[in-house]
Amino acid sequence: MKYRAWFQCINNECKTTYPLNAIIYKCDNCGSLLEVKHDMDALSRRDAKAWMKLFEERYKSTEWPYGSGVWGKKEWVLPEIDNNNIVSLYEGGTNLFWAERFGKKLGLSDLWIKLCGNSHSGSFKDLGMTVLVSQVKQMISEGAPIQAVACASTGDTSAALSVYCAAAGIQSIVLLPKGKISIAQLVQPIANDALVLSLDTDFDGCMKVVQEITKDETIYLANSMNSLRVEGQKTVGIEIVQQFDWEIPDVIIIPGGNLGNVSALGNGLLMMKELGLISRLPRIVLAQAEKANPLYRSYLKNFETFEPIQAEKTLASAIQIGNPVSVQKAIRVLKQFSGIVEQATEQELADAAALGDANGMFNCPHTGVALAVLIKLLKSGKIDKTERVVVISTAHGLKFTDFKVRYHEGTLDFPCKYANKPIELPPRVDAVKEALKYALEQRRNVDV
Ligand SMILES: *Cc1c(COP(=O)(O)O)cnc(C)c1O
Ligand SMILES: [Zn+2]
Repeated sequence: MKYRAWFQCINNECKTTYPLNAIIYKCDNCGSLLEVKHDMDALSRRDAKAWMKLFEERYKSTEWPYGSGVWGKKEWVLPEIDNNNIVSLYEGGTNLFWAERFGKKLGLSDLWIKLCGNSHSGSFKDLGMTVLVSQVKQMISEGAPIQAVACASTGDTSAALSVYCAAAGIQSIVLLPKGKISIAQLVQPIANDALVLSLDTDFDGCMKVVQEITKDETIYLANSMNSLRVEGQKTVGIEIVQQFDWEIPDVIIIPGGNLGNVSALGNGLLMMKELGLISRLPRIVLAQAEKANPLYRSYLKNFETFEPIQAEKTLASAIQIGNPVSVQKAIRVLKQFSGIVEQATEQELADAAALGDANGMFNCPHTGVALAVLIKLLKSGKIDKTERVVVISTAHGLKFTDFKVRYHEGTLDFPCKYANKPIELPPRVDAVKEALKYALEQRRNVDV
């Protein structure tokens, strides 16, 4: 069977199509974003059961490249790419675990965490970057004039881009907002041989510059405005349902900044529904930091208007975005999934991350935003305690050690409710015994 995919303008009055090997990021005709569309008739000729069986057979196998969570669904992602051009680091297949103790703390018995940060570069961005860099390799093999791939980044995009490019032997260029990303996120592209440009601006400022320099066809744009990324990321929703033996959870909560990931999550689930693998859709909750909440503001007006804002500094640095590229795609998805948008303050996100950690997680601040939103929606009754809830954890907590150190030192701008300070002692057994007696007693009396 021959499966096909192409770029298509998201504007319903336009719908112009372009081949996937065109160097194009927005519609030439009307300037809207593009999305990847698939020949659904061809895909639907294989029935739902057969797709499930195929995906199960491939899942985490060593049959390269199909053991990858993304390439195991190749026909739904990038069907026409030559396997020789696939650049895969075995992305996807991340653990989905039952957060039993933390859930019970919140009165919820069926809370699950999808740990997308347990991935090659430590964030979900790997899911999209494997697709983009593979397509670039394919285009170079066909004679395209691409010499480098560039992105603006709040940290994780550049880490993913540079490691996939390093694995493929393609030069990467990353534009980072100076002083606004964590040390780990700065070290990753440096180590992976990227050309690192540190600009004295914020993410939105870097984004403007990268769009200009990629007008030159020798530098390919890797930001999520490039819808190839979304195609890889859409496997996360499919993978969650597969991990639940094809049962749909009630609610999926995801933090959002540029809003590519929530669009991808929705697209994957819609594709499953269209091809008969699922019969209903979960609700999707998009979680934003209060300091960078343009979609929350729009949600309060029923998405009737959307105004970009100047994002303020937030601990959730990867979602410090005031002018999200994929806002239209995200609104379209949220409307179809009875979507809710909720926000979290700095204190709420930090406390929620810490409370999760103290109950067996190890959260990045963005996951903290999602957990804080979960707590708020449980309180307001918008999520019911009997529902099965999945929180998408977007990055590995070890990328954000500064955030955790400052929280536990209590040096953030607000009281840190669950701070756990090391006890400094002389190296004497009696002193240690005395301190333990007191500290253990104190622990018994506070419930984290
Ligand atoms: C990129 C990123 C997000 C936000 O994803 P968008 O597609 O920009 O909405 C959230 N968390 C982490 C850790 C990220 O790297
Ligand atoms: Zn168009």
